[in-house]
Amino acid sequence: MDRRYKDILDQLINGVYTTDLNRVITYWNRAAEKITGYSADEVVGKRCADNILVHVDGEGNNLCLGMCPLALSMGDGSARETLVYLKHKDGHRVPVQVRATPLRDEEGKIVGGVEIFEDASNLVSQEEKVSILERLAYLDELTRVGNRRFIYDTLEDHLRDLKEIGWPFGVVMMDIDHFKKVNDTYGHQAGDDVLRNVANTILSSLRSFDSLGRYGGEEFLVILRNVDPQELLRIAEKLRVLVEATWTDAGREIITVTISGGATMADPNDTPESLIKRADDLLYRSKQGGRNRITPG
Ligand code: GH3
Ligand code: MG
Ligand code: MG
Repeated sequence: MDRRYKDILDQLINGVYTTDLNRVITYWNRAAEKITGYSADEVVGKRCADNILVHVDGEGNNLCLGMCPLALSMGDGSARETLVYLKHKDGHRVPVQVRATPLRDEEGKIVGGVEIFEDASNLVSQEEKVSILERLAYLDELTRVGNRRFIYDTLEDHLRDLKEIGWPFGVVMMDIDHFKKVNDTYGHQAGDDVLRNVANTILSSLRSFDSLGRYGGEEFLVILRNVDPQELLRIAEKLRVLVEATWTDAGREIITVTISGGATMADPNDTPESLIKRADDLLYRSKQGGRNRITPG
């Protein structure tokens, strides 16, 4: 590529990469390195589907298996824009807004594709949130999300808003399936990495006014503001499939885990304890029903 264009592309805050018709990556700019964790050296010459970005959509469908926006654009010559979740090198999922366009030669023949993408999680405010949590002794050191005290105080706050102004909210209690086996198979350190990755996936997919806390060892509570029961379940399902699509590198192997969850709306008569208990009972039903599922109620 012309040096001048390369310099310009490296200045962009958007990630940019190009591929040939076989979807082999031919160029990877600096912002792409920042957003994905992969350097150009690691990916140029490889196919995107070779365990690199492995885009999934909000339903967890692997887009590399045919529905990739870039392949579609190279196929029909038209540009596409969509929200997908790419796999960061660390394994967690990052939401990105993607724009795919075909690349043409001088005769107008399609010779490849270009994908431009931008980070759709608000990382800056995420960093701010961590420092606020830290200051208030609300931070869970391992996962950098809220701790148990944060969960209780946030629920108290939200319940007050529900009683006084009628602001609805719901919670999802989530527990990693067969997590003991992860520790037994790969070691406690790898287990910790999985916990961090799962927390990161959930956190980057939440809206700025939602909250996430680590309730216990491998249990997380998601608090979702301003949702109705359908929306609560939809988001819980989305988080479930994104966790399923989260990869943790354990040297030679990749660890993936699933979560079970219980999703329930807060009631004005609830206390933090009664709300958590209801979500926990629903979670238990998901475990009994075979795991990797959300039970609403
Ligand atoms: P289930 O599907 O029924 O939830 O099975 P499980 O194995 O996940 O459930 P169990 O409660 O028996 O095991 C939870 C495990 O989580 C046991 C404990 O060693 C592990 N664990 C708890 N906290 C941490 C932690 O901070 N780091 C690591 N690596 N493991 C943890
Ligand atoms: Mg547990
Ligand atoms: Mg568990």
